[in-house]
Amino acid sequence: MKVRALDLHAQFRDVGRDVRAAIDRVIASQQFILGSEVQSLEQEIAAYSSVAHGIGVSSGTDAILVGLMALGVGHGDEIVTTPYTFIATAACIARLGARAVFVDIDPRTYTLDANSLDAAIGARTRAIVPVHLFGQMADMDQILAVAAARHVPVFEDGAQAIGAHRRGRPMGRGSRGAALSFFPSKNLGCMGDGGMVMSDDADFASRVRLLRNQGQEPKHRSQMVGGNFRLDAMQAAVVRAKLPYLEGWTRARQNHAKAYRAAFDQAKIDPELLSLPYEANGAHHVYHQFVVRTPKRDALRAHLEARGIECAVYYPLPMHLQSCFAAWGYAEGDFPEAERAARESLALPIYPELAPSAREYVVNEVTAFLSRV
Ligand SMILES: *Cc1c(COP(=O)(O)O)cnc(C)c1O
Repeated sequence: MKVRALDLHAQFRDVGRDVRAAIDRVIASQQFILGSEVQSLEQEIAAYSSVAHGIGVSSGTDAILVGLMALGVGHGDEIVTTPYTFIATAACIARLGARAVFVDIDPRTYTLDANSLDAAIGARTRAIVPVHLFGQMADMDQILAVAAARHVPVFEDGAQAIGAHRRGRPMGRGSRGAALSFFPSKNLGCMGDGGMVMSDDADFASRVRLLRNQGQEPKHRSQMVGGNFRLDAMQAAVVRAKLPYLEGWTRARQNHAKAYRAAFDQAKIDPELLSLPYEANGAHHVYHQFVVRTPKRDALRAHLEARGIECAVYYPLPMHLQSCFAAWGYAEGDFPEAERAARESLALPIYPELAPSAREYVVNEVTAFLSRV
């Protein structure tokens, strides 16, 4: 049996007709950059996410970059964030000439440990950037409380977490804003690159809107140095066509997670050998990934791959050990939980169209391997 980590062909069988109609609509309009498709998507995503404003941008990375630009981040600033994330989070900080001040993760949720946040904030701290990893929000209640006490704005990397909330709080509520990605493998993907900044703050949203399009307002008059961070109409139309499916897809992901949990519980694997994803109190986890942890990670991964099961490691090298950030001066041992997660975590296949029989095969192969070691 072959089990993929993700099957976009299966998704396209369900949404293909809607997506083709949306693309035809854009072709008929001959309006390719921004315009009404992008505007409609901004309203629809903002409504779906219970925030006031959405600003469509060219990628999740650019959503983070333009969000930090709108906060005025620049040379000499410090941004407090997590070392256990995709490269884009830290790279956007570096591109603006700022320095990432990392805070180790909570080993249960893999997100920034809010208990260590206060100690990382100093006179140069310009922003806090939590990452809602694998589809679960970081502890925003506590992060926002610390941020408010220290008068530091928060901008969220929500690239993996569209639709997530925690104790009723959606992304972008109480912070300056949040970044989304529509990269094809994300929970809501386009057919290329795309992203969005979401915000409840009208001033912040209008700065992002200006910066997205070369700072121009009106055309050929720029008050700020921005960039070309525009979302194009074709990608917006694709995302709009898929958005009505998202709730169902999220439920399917959650059901797979529940079924994995029940099956692994029944398999009675030694808890020293396997731990399952932890759902924090009040978290609505959208399971972008189903990440388990095992000290036998590399051997388990090799076994699963040999049995036709695709799995992935997110992330094998934490940000503080990336050579592109060597100038920041971090060393091995600085963030032990991020380093342990990088050694032990393994993402098992989870996507809406995953067949129950494939999921059961994964459980059987994990169990067979771990009961032999
Ligand atoms: C995917 C991702 C990004 C970047 O999004 P792109 O659309 O690929 O630029 C940023 N941060 C995290 C945590 C991501 O998973």
